[in-house]
Amino acid sequence: MTETRVFHNFINGEFVPSSSGQTFERRNPADQRDLVGVFQDSGAADVDAAVAAAKAAYTTWRKVPAPQRGEILLKAAELLVARKEQYSHDLTREMGKPLFEAGGDIVEAIGMAQFAGSEGRRMHGVTTPSELPNKFQMSMRQPIGVIGMITPWNFPMAIASWKMLPALVCGNTVVIKPGEDASISTYNLVACLVEAGLPPGVVNIVTGYGPSAGQPLVEHPDVPVLSFTGSNEVGRLVYELGARQIKRVSLEMGGKNPLIVMDDADLDLVEQGVVWAAFGTTGQRCTATSRLIVQRGIAAEMSERIVARAKALRVGNGLQATSEMGPLVNGAQLERVLGYIELGKSEGATLRCGGARLSGGDYDHGFFVQPTVFTGVTPTMRIAREEIFGPVLSIIEVDDFDEALAVANDVAYGLSASIYTRDINTAYRAMHELEAGIVYINAPTIGAEIHLPFGGVKGTGNGHREAGPTMLDVFSEWKSVYVDYSGALQRAQIDN
Ligand code: NAD
Repeated sequence: MTETRVFHNFINGEFVPSSSGQTFERRNPADQRDLVGVFQDSGAADVDAAVAAAKAAYTTWRKVPAPQRGEILLKAAELLVARKEQYSHDLTREMGKPLFEAGGDIVEAIGMAQFAGSEGRRMHGVTTPSELPNKFQMSMRQPIGVIGMITPWNFPMAIASWKMLPALVCGNTVVIKPGEDASISTYNLVACLVEAGLPPGVVNIVTGYGPSAGQPLVEHPDVPVLSFTGSNEVGRLVYELGARQIKRVSLEMGGKNPLIVMDDADLDLVEQGVVWAAFGTTGQRCTATSRLIVQRGIAAEMSERIVARAKALRVGNGLQATSEMGPLVNGAQLERVLGYIELGKSEGATLRCGGARLSGGDYDHGFFVQPTVFTGVTPTMRIAREEIFGPVLSIIEVDDFDEALAVANDVAYGLSASIYTRDINTAYRAMHELEAGIVYINAPTIGAEIHLPFGGVKGTGNGHREAGPTMLDVFSEWKSVYVDYSGALQRAQIDN
């Protein structure tokens, strides 16, 4: 279980080394002595080869009937089910989240393979009556070509599946550059697709760093669509570079997700939800709860409860069954989170628990930080406005729902938001007025399911949604078709 595997790029159905011969290592973030894998440090020439393979494969893949394409995805789902345990282990080892959470990542990919696979038999278009006699009209989805995908490390199997599987069922081909901290899960997903019958060249994997391997994919003239998930900083660059070639660019970026607690809420439920959403995946979820906005009358009790739960969390190597929270993904992320904790203190927030790197024993070999809670946070503090992407919760007190809503909405992001209340009127107002792509009532900010649209408003995205009934939109073009069987020239808007 601790073997080190060497991964080559996967191009046109073959495993090939990078053209430069350069590689990079990935070590387990919970234990830096554990070398998880060696990957190709790819560059523009490797991306060129992968795009050429995807472009060639597109000419035949686009003509495979969609139900047959879907069958491959459905078979891949079965393989994922059979390999869930092994793939969860790989995922935990490469990015750190505990095994039970890693299993969730695989289950999302299974769900998406089933959902997108069955879409092969739907992919509905629209027929409408014509305004002229003896004329038929319809619209249908068509594939676009080679899709460039750039993914982060935090949900390495789930996010790859949200992008790849809808793109494939539409008839596109793919070049994916996975996050450099967690590339194995992409190989695992693609292995299932290939064993299920995916032809060579339809999916290609090029590993490496963003500027050297990601950017050539973004700028490649034969890649008309880019699907990106990651930070706002990189997303902006991808958008700008894509715009120069008028590419279709779908961006899923950061969050600063609020969870509002009204004084009529079930506090036991809140306590469980907050701990799961703030500290699950070590706070490294784009939908993690990072702001707890609490009505003043219950704030002291709520804070006490959350602090007690945070202190009791078992932090450790995700491969151990007892671990409830794993490490941060890498040293840079550890520095960033510790930097934000220092910032919170200097801004005048009260550090109630955590606040430091965990050390001693096995902790010294990984990037572990204590679950951290700040109270006395005001909405203008940077820790209340900027994405930290770590296990740091800021508790903000408010007088009433209107103030809670104003605070919740007063950030640049808009991915997920939640409210706990037993008042149905408040719940419905929140549903309508929270500026977020995803809203939860009496549930925390995490827990999206693959058959509803996923994505955010404001700085989180650029208007697209992954998953759900919207999942095909980025990866297909609409074509409208008019069939005139009157045998005469009928001029629309003129002859009727
Ligand atoms: P990141 O932006 O650093 O990296 C994302 C990907 O972009 C990686 O594959 C990276 O190699 C690549 N990249 C970096 N520079 C590039 C460049 N110049 N050109 C092309 N590609 C480049 O993000 P990350 O640290 O991997 O992930 C964390 C971020 O992702 C957080 O901000 C989080 O909120 C966000 N995220 C968002 C969602 C969502 O659906 N909204 C989901 C998960 C993560």
